[in-house]
Amino acid sequence: MSASKKTPRVNAVKGTRDILPPDSVVWQAMEQKAMRVFSRFGYREIRTPVMEPTELFVRSIGESTDIVNKEMYEFKDKKGRSLCLRPEGTASVARAYVEHNLRLQPHPLRLYYLGPMFRYERPQKGRYRQFYQIGAEILGTESPSADLEMLVMVHRFLKELGFRELSILLNSVGCDQCRPEYRAELTEKLRAKKDQLCQDCIQRLDQNPLRVFDCKVPSCRETVTSLPLIGDHLCEGCREHHDRVVEGLQRAGISAGRDDGLVRGLDYYTRTVFEVVSADLGAQNAILGGGRYDRLIQDLGGPETPAIGFAIGEDRLMEILPDSFREASLREPVCYVLPLAPEYLPEAETLALQIREQDVVAVLEVDGRPVRAAMKYADRMTFDRVVFLGEDEVAGGTVTVKEMRTGEQSAMERDVFLNSLT
Ligand code: AMP
Repeated sequence: MSASKKTPRVNAVKGTRDILPPDSVVWQAMEQKAMRVFSRFGYREIRTPVMEPTELFVRSIGESTDIVNKEMYEFKDKKGRSLCLRPEGTASVARAYVEHNLRLQPHPLRLYYLGPMFRYERPQKGRYRQFYQIGAEILGTESPSADLEMLVMVHRFLKELGFRELSILLNSVGCDQCRPEYRAELTEKLRAKKDQLCQDCIQRLDQNPLRVFDCKVPSCRETVTSLPLIGDHLCEGCREHHDRVVEGLQRAGISAGRDDGLVRGLDYYTRTVFEVVSADLGAQNAILGGGRYDRLIQDLGGPETPAIGFAIGEDRLMEILPDSFREASLREPVCYVLPLAPEYLPEAETLALQIREQDVVAVLEVDGRPVRAAMKYADRMTFDRVVFLGEDEVAGGTVTVKEMRTGEQSAMERDVFLNSLT
């Protein structure tokens, strides 16, 4: 006792957290649902390292972005190489695509990933320094049908989690053909209003003026209301592409709102960008974001490979997950195997194993709790059934089963009980 009083505790790093049961069980069910839905659309998993060369993100996400400028967990390894804990997943997928010559595989290539991401942001509700994303990418196609597929897949996943009222926001940020002209006009207009912009936006002016639309500072928000919109400057190709996506969503019965100011924070997007937001989340209201990135793979030294992807923020999704899904994922029935005296423990060990062989969860009472304490424990753990093994049961090859929900208790042959589980 005295040692633990004196010994200082070690706590988790600021902005990171432990995900404990039963929450971890719900996380797992949510991830399994994502994997199942994405598989149904033909996507397969790619696992990339958590550590990457810093250069990867500088070249892909863009030097002028907040992520690269302020938020990267960057460090030197023992040989002095600059490494980074990944802040997002797409750049790693693109790197892997180039590194493993995946262009030689049949196209388009459909991939999904999940895992932790790291950003040195100010922690707050819904914003962590280690957070989790599930993402998907379709590489090697320019077709607007691929954009549509992504949105339909996201919608399907959210629907199967039980969400009803989430808003999909959609926009086009144009391409190499139409964006430069728009950008020039936007920069000119912004220069004229420079005194109304925050320091960050003044800096963004030369690097990526579109990002001013992302700024949360009130004077900047006010300023953008009078700016020209990319939507009014799209070239023929971008307009047709966008119309085709919008029309496809309508046909699929998915409502999506156009958001002219949606530009997304990263440099690599072209044409389609989208977000799903929830009114239940407060300030950090984006659950997922994605978009087309037709140049990224080229920028990383690969062949011309148009692609589109999205990433879902699992932490935020978990915060607003419908109760129906949460409850269903915690509903796996559990048998609690309770030997009524220490001498029946070996027999109880065997019985627990036989139950598990039926693919049913069995928790064994290993500490010899007396019945009253054991029943309290079963109650707290919300076990479904208690399976007693005492003198009579062992002698007669039977078990006594108590249904915790109804309180009903019955004795039966052990084989009959085991068969009833399947
Ligand atoms: P992004 O990669 O910035 O497009 O983010 C995609 C999604 O990841 C967002 O919509 C959020 O749900 C989630 N996300 C991004 N940053 C964080 C963070 N610091 N903490 C928790 N979730 C995050």
